[in-house]
Amino acid sequence: MGLEQYKGDMAMCCRCSCCKFIPMQRVSGLQYANVCPSIAKYEFHAYSGGGRMNIGTAMLSEEGLPYTDKLLDIIYNCQMCGACGVSCNYAMDMEVQEPINEIRIKAVQDGQTNPALEKVIRNLRKEGSMVPARGKRGAWASGLKLKNAAKEKVDVLYHVGCLTSYDPEMQKLARAAAKILQKAGVDFGIAGDSETCCGGRAYQMGYEKDFLNQAKKNMAMVRKCGARTVVTTCADGYQAFKVLYDKYKMKGDLEVLHISEYIDRLLQEGRLKLRKKVDLSVTYHDPCRLGRMGEPWIHWEGKKIPGDRFVFDPPKQYRRGSNGIYEPPRNVLKSIAGVKLTEMTRIREYSWCCGAGGGVNESNPEFAKWTAKERIDEAVSTGAEAIVTACPWCEKTFNEAIGETGSSLKVYDIVELVENAL
Ligand code: SF4
Ligand code: SF4
Repeated sequence: MGLEQYKGDMAMCCRCSCCKFIPMQRVSGLQYANVCPSIAKYEFHAYSGGGRMNIGTAMLSEEGLPYTDKLLDIIYNCQMCGACGVSCNYAMDMEVQEPINEIRIKAVQDGQTNPALEKVIRNLRKEGSMVPARGKRGAWASGLKLKNAAKEKVDVLYHVGCLTSYDPEMQKLARAAAKILQKAGVDFGIAGDSETCCGGRAYQMGYEKDFLNQAKKNMAMVRKCGARTVVTTCADGYQAFKVLYDKYKMKGDLEVLHISEYIDRLLQEGRLKLRKKVDLSVTYHDPCRLGRMGEPWIHWEGKKIPGDRFVFDPPKQYRRGSNGIYEPPRNVLKSIAGVKLTEMTRIREYSWCCGAGGGVNESNPEFAKWTAKERIDEAVSTGAEAIVTACPWCEKTFNEAIGETGSSLKVYDIVELVENAL
């Protein structure tokens, strides 16, 4: 791929700064108008999507752009959340998130790595996990009598993900998801100790080769177990299988569903019934990689006709974030008797990131927590008792932020509420 192919897109940037905010007509006040955590925290244009377009342009110029500590600070203090691209694309036809990814990839290829991210990647190469392995990867499933997809054929492969597999506080999500699928009579299995990282976070960190390596291993597992569908409870895993594997033409006709989509389908088909009342007022957080970044990849093939910038023949279709997964998790919440949903200001494709993306959780945990606190504040402003999300990384980051703020807001993953309602 490469940064070079986005030269024309980056040249389109007119420095309007729309990538810093949700679209003007959605702004209801000074609070919660920002959409980019990086510019909101660091308050200097270079940290915004537009600033990054200027950086990419300078990197490709004849003079080049030398790597300095400041430049690397800008490159690595970005959650790769895609919000800038969606806000820009409200009015503009140009790629923003793709060149930002490519700047990261270029930095890694040029040896300009971040020490904290290097450590994570060393662990990935050794243990196949983005978090340190604690015991066996499939230990969470002990006693559940699940099919082992590494040895048996299954219709559906449940890809659990690194954090949910190994983090003792997150394993409850895997158990809840497995119980829901069992209850609905789905023929599914897990790869257990043979499961390996989806590679999505390695990609966000700029490690394209490591991502591709993981993608190959995962698609080999899919072929081996014969699954036609992969289900994930992690938004990163969802985006990796559904969007990134497709972008690199590795997905084929595999169906990829987030558990919230699958539960929504099972409810509609009458295969799952939610009988118990759960009295709780909630607000729902759209994870970046389930929402705007989870939008299907659009392949474009044609001619780039050179000119001042580029003309695409046939015209290129842009991903604007509106085709992410927004309704299924809301449908599921509305199906639970007693749950009252109140929305925040920044939702759907304009959702504010939880802070954990792009390796920021590892390279700058304070920035990750600062970002999460802003979301907690927004959730509290709705008057809800709890924030519900659909990704273990969000739940973990929110809990850490709440631990520091002393807020009484509760955090749940959608599978926990469904499990309670079964
Ligand atoms: S990236 Fe898009 S929204 Fe941001 S300054 Fe450039 S043109 Fe404007
Ligand atoms: S990807 Fe997210 S954090 Fe990075 S510049 Fe864009 S909006 Fe800001």
